[in-house]
This record gives sequence, structure tokens and C-alpha cells, in this order.
Amino acid sequence: MVIALQDYTPLGDDDLPLLKDQEYILINSSHTDWWTVQNDKGATGFVPSIYVAEKSGTNFERFEWYNKNITRAEAEELLMTEGKEGAFMVRDSRQAGVYTVSVFTKAPGSNGEKNPRVKHYQIRQTETEEISFYLAEKYLFSTIPELIHYHQHNAAGLITRLRRPVSKDGGCSQEIWEVDPEELILGQELGSGQFGLVLEGRWKDIKVAVKMIREECMSDEEFKEEAKVMMKLSHCKLVQLYGVCTQRSPMCLVFEFMENGCLSEYLRARKGRLSQDMMLGMCLDVSEGMAYLESSNFIHRDLAARNCLVSKNNEVKVSDFGMTRFVLDDQYTSSQCSKFPVKWSAPEVIKYCKFSSKSDVWSFGVLMWEVYNEGRLPYENRTNAEVVESLSSGLRLLKPRLAPDSVHLLMEWCWKEKPEDRPSFALLLHELVQCVTFGRLYWQNQSGL
Ligand code: ADP
Repeated sequence: MVIALQDYTPLGDDDLPLLKDQEYILINSSHTDWWTVQNDKGATGFVPSIYVAEKSGTNFERFEWYNKNITRAEAEELLMTEGKEGAFMVRDSRQAGVYTVSVFTKAPGSNGEKNPRVKHYQIRQTETEEISFYLAEKYLFSTIPELIHYHQHNAAGLITRLRRPVSKDGGCSQEIWEVDPEELILGQELGSGQFGLVLEGRWKDIKVAVKMIREECMSDEEFKEEAKVMMKLSHCKLVQLYGVCTQRSPMCLVFEFMENGCLSEYLRARKGRLSQDMMLGMCLDVSEGMAYLESSNFIHRDLAARNCLVSKNNEVKVSDFGMTRFVLDDQYTSSQCSKFPVKWSAPEVIKYCKFSSKSDVWSFGVLMWEVYNEGRLPYENRTNAEVVESLSSGLRLLKPRLAPDSVHLLMEWCWKEKPEDRPSFALLLHELVQCVTFGRLYWQNQSGL
């Protein structure tokens, strides 16, 4: 196994993209510069050997959060100077071969501490034959980078989630997510959304979509932090965030350009002309993107056909993931209000705002319904209140005329009342692949092939 030290975007068809901190199987390392690796989906390709490191529990010297020769006092000073919630580093403990996570927080402690302070957690190892690392007993990992990656998304026993790596050389980690305004050329308007206008643009000779963020629409500071996490999410079925341009006012976000616009419009424009293969392919594309988000412990929170985009090659990609957290409009963020996407939301989201990958699965069921109804709006003539009422009495959206039984069963599975009774995206992906295979066999039999 090897671990990617940084993202890699393929230069040629034979290369494989790398996602920082993800694991790959090393197939061939006989060439010094280019190694062959395999990803968790079974795809293989070449990657630059310097972008990966062989996996061993303590092989993490090149990660931005690791500070090799630093004392406890120096660590505290650096983190206090940084002074931002969740600023953290991993450093050597005094005890050889042991590592400590130091993290800055302002959160009140269990014994009444209120002052900003640095907390230190030793990374512990299990005594078992196969070594595992942990900070909080319940969460075991076979490597330290995996442990850190997990706690960057989940506090899970720590005083705060590990939000921003700090290193001795260079303070906060390098800001690779900052787009230089000089390099960004803006073009015509593509549409307008929740946060403001979306323009066509060019950045470093690639066509991009630029979201201009109206100031009053977004909580800026929080978003800038999260943008770093979002940029690391990289998958062929997600609309890639390339970077953020904070030096320009209004701030803008630079995304991969999607020639065929949003999925709901795309469906409506092709009404009556969509084949079974095309519709199933769209659901499959979205489930792939979502299975990746699920495996990255990232919740979308607003999955719907309007938040997916279609590429030049008619591939569907998931967009706008996690963005609702930064919307400042109350009408949108409270489930009681008019703009809240009630018709796509799971019951536990409507009742308690309890978001999870399983609430995303509910929304995915509604998205499949939209696809097989060629872009129709769900519960067209009903108000949000009526929808809530009919859901709680156990009623669900009806089977779309174009949906095969196998796909309708998946929709119903997504709409189980209890989140734990719904399938995961990994399972949905598997089931949809089965539908593709059986669908082909069925049509072949029908046509006597
Ligand atoms: P917001 O997230 O601010 O609500 P949207 O994502 O809904 O904005 O974007 C508004 C419109 O802009 C979309 O319906 C689509 O037509 C266009 N658009 C957004 N992102 C892209 C993109 N990456 N490529 C091409 N067009 C886009």
C-alpha cells in the first residue's frame, strides 16, 4: 500500500489521479519516476513516484501538519499565535517514537476552563499484533495520516475537530487554494444562484465557472476554512472546486466548467428523448460521486437534480456539496421556512435538522425520481406542510411511469423512515451496477441477440 502525499491531476490517459491522504495499491515500482498504482475502484495508472509514500504507521514526515523538531513550549507558542479554533500540529513527544497532537481551542473544557489554550493528546498504539493508532479509544486507524484525516472531519472525543494544520516553517499551511485574480479572466453570465451570479471564465487556460459571492449571502470566514477541505475532495463524478479568489471583492469560487448546465434543466429539455440507458447512467454517475463523498465522511445536505451538473460528454456530476452550511438566508436554512428544500429532505432533517450520509440517501431517492420523471418537480401541486403530513402518514412519491421495478425498489429503500434502514451509497452503487448489467441482458433477450 502507498499513501498519496498530495493530489495529482493526470497529464495523460495512462495516468491515475491521486487524492491526498488516500491509499493505493502499489502494482509496479520498477521505474524510478513513474509507479503504477491501483485505486479503491480497481482502476490502475501511472503516478509520479514522489507523490506517494509507502504506507507504514509512522511515515508522515512530509505531511503539512507534522513538525519534527519542536518542543511542547514552541508548539504552544505557535498555536497560540495562530489563535484560530482547531489550529493543530503533530509533533514528537519527549518519549522516543511517540507522537502528540497539539490543538488550539477556545471551547469551554469539562473542568470549567474557558481561556484560549492548547491541548495535547498523545497518539496511542494498541498492544495487539497488528498495530493500530488512536486518540480516543473507540476510533482505531492503521496509520497516523488516516487518524489525522478522520479527526480533521470529526472531533470524536477531542475538544475540537482538527481544522487547520500549522507548521513551523510557513505558519499556516500553504494556501494552494488561493486563485490569483490576475490569472482569472471573467466572461459572460451563465446563471444565478443562491450566492449570486455565476460567470463563465478562464483560469490558467482552462474553461471554468466562477461563482461571484454576494457578501451578505455567505459566511465568508468559515467558508474559506472549509474550502480547503472541499478542494481536497476530488472525484470524476464531483464538480471540482479549483480554488477561491479572496483578494477580489466580491469573493469568488472557481469551479470545473460543465457545458451542459444543471441536470434538472437538462432533463426537461430532453423530455421524451431519454433512453433507459441514459436515465440509469445518470443515477449511476450521481451514486458514484455520492459514494465517494460518503467514504470521505462528507455530507452533501442539498442533493437534488438542480444541484447536479452535466458535462460536455453528458456525464452527470454532483455539485454544491456542503454549501448550505454557509448560506446566511434564514428562509433557506430553517426547515420551517419557504426556501428550505423540504421535498428532498429526510424526515429526521425536517424534524431535527439531523443530517447524515443517510439523509443524503433519502434525497438521492428523490433525485432518481426526478430523473425518471424527466425533470418534473416532486409533489408538484402540494405545499411543504402537506408533504410533511403525507410523509409522516407513510405516503411516498409514486412510481414514475418510466422507472423499471428494480429502480423503483431502490427509491423506496432510500425513503425508509429510519436512516439505518436505508442503503449506503456504496450499496446503492453496487445495486445500480447490477441494474445496468441485467438491463442490458434483458434488452438483448428482447431483441433476440
Ligand atoms: P448557487 O450554488 O449559488 O445556488 P448554482 O449552482 O445553482 O448556484 O448555479 C446557478 C446556475 O449557474 C446553474 O443553474 C448553472 O446553469 C450555472 N452553473 C453553475 N455552476 C456551473 C458550472 N460549474 N459550469 C457551468 N454552469 C454552471
